[in-house]
Amino acid sequence: MANSSNTYSERRETLLISSGDVAEMIRCLMAKKSPIKIQAGGWSMDPFIRDQDVLTIAPLSRDMIKLGEIVAFKVQKKDKSFRLGMHRVVQVLDRENYLIKGDNTSPDPDGIVPRNQILGKVIKIERNNKTIRLGVSQGGGRARPLVKAQSSGTPDNFHEKIEIRFQAQKIPMISRPTIWTTILEHFKKNEFEKKRHPISFDFDITARCNNDCRHCYINVPPDSPEHIEKELSLSQIERIADEAVSMGTLWCLLSGGEPLLREDFDDIYVMLKRKGLLLSLYTNATLITPHRIQLLKRYPPRDIEITVYGVTKETFGKVTSRPENFNAFKRGLKLLLDNNIPVRLKAMIMRSNIHEFSEIAAFCRRYTKDFFRFDPHLHLRYDGNPERNRRILAERLTPQEIAALDHKDPSRSASLQKDCHIYIRDSSNNENDKRLFCCGLGRNSFSVGFDGMFRLCPSLCAPMCMYDLKNGSLAEAWTTFAPRIMSMTTSDPEIGLKCHRCEIINLCQWCPANAHLESGRLEYRPDYFCEVARARSEALKSRLVSDSE
Ligand code: SF4
Ligand code: SF4
Repeated sequence: MANSSNTYSERRETLLISSGDVAEMIRCLMAKKSPIKIQAGGWSMDPFIRDQDVLTIAPLSRDMIKLGEIVAFKVQKKDKSFRLGMHRVVQVLDRENYLIKGDNTSPDPDGIVPRNQILGKVIKIERNNKTIRLGVSQGGGRARPLVKAQSSGTPDNFHEKIEIRFQAQKIPMISRPTIWTTILEHFKKNEFEKKRHPISFDFDITARCNNDCRHCYINVPPDSPEHIEKELSLSQIERIADEAVSMGTLWCLLSGGEPLLREDFDDIYVMLKRKGLLLSLYTNATLITPHRIQLLKRYPPRDIEITVYGVTKETFGKVTSRPENFNAFKRGLKLLLDNNIPVRLKAMIMRSNIHEFSEIAAFCRRYTKDFFRFDPHLHLRYDGNPERNRRILAERLTPQEIAALDHKDPSRSASLQKDCHIYIRDSSNNENDKRLFCCGLGRNSFSVGFDGMFRLCPSLCAPMCMYDLKNGSLAEAWTTFAPRIMSMTTSDPEIGLKCHRCEIINLCQWCPANAHLESGRLEYRPDYFCEVARARSEALKSRLVSDSE
């Protein structure tokens, strides 16, 4: 074997060789298209690699290496020699370059590793003679590859067998959310501010729901055959997810409707987890069962967000039109909390539950005190259903009620005051801005509807702004279609001269997507949004004055 003759020593039956030589040994075997088995003597990316696990490393095929796969690669040291690294691909930059990071090492990735330094990929992990799953992990120790090689031989399925022990250097356990938050923050700081990149996507896997909320912008009956017919199949969802993963997407939010209504929800969920995606889930909690808890414990989500419509059966029933689901909601929430599944609670505040606002806020804070948020802005239906839109309009609060809510909640009030320079800003920055969309549309995320329609924002339902993924590719939607939408301009003075220059646009719900839901036109300024923003701004200014006196 090249380059190893003077860098090992024998001690009884154990052969000690350097990490660089282990890497070279793997390279030689991979060149012969020979898989290799390696026994870990430490633990890395726990629970996926533990002490004594046997890893099978296989040669690379011609395919692109996928996000989430664990690879063996050569790392150049300061003295220009090499050592062996074995970590996970966390971003596919292009066919030739991959960002690689250990799940439990420092916040910084190993760096961008060119394909020609990647020796092979881990295709199997065996523990106590059983195969375990490969996937995204949650922390543990850092395996420092080097060290002792044991016997060699020729077992049935391999040209050669070499078992190599790894020494472990333990570092403190960090949690899965910390790891992913760190990765996302790193990417945001270092990569994505400079260029467009699809970090995350929302996937509304169904529009059907077993509740019938008065304010809902999407729901249809749970057994609607017309909508079941239109829903993407599991294989269509998988194709979109594969494309997303190959483009470097890290995070998927599964939503609906009620996503748990889909009979194949478990298959969809596990399939997305196995692709290494970080998953969030929006659910109304009524369909959480002990079976679902087992699934969520085995494949933990990043988080689950649940909207609390009321804390009494009466209010819950008034909002959801399904008072009989109140007990199922409480039971589902309790199951999640009892099993330590990460839950975040939030609320929509409207005419039917404003009387219970304080109780809803207290209930949510009891369980997720650092997260609770509420939203009194109701937007209209994606399908434009006029009867349902009338019901939503009847639930909207007055501008004064919304402004009062901002300051009824101490935490919201404090945050508005702290960041008031963001909410009430200098308008001169945007004077020459002719763009129709002046938000961050299309930079780091996209959305896919239950029917396979790609959108740059979940609310952007104007037909000319949607791309049918059933008849096209995500790559085309992202690279060709999306930039056309992002570059749309406006010549409407109400938008260009007023909204884009408006000092309180950050307190306002105005945007082309919401304008289209209100009027069927992207360039439109709904009076209601304007009045709400002005009432909120006046209330914030007077709160700042009264606090300074
Ligand atoms: S629970 Fe959610 S999806 Fe279902 S009707 Fe209510 S708001 Fe809509
Ligand atoms: S709708 Fe009114 S408050 Fe909102 S951005 Fe436009 S001008 Fe400003």
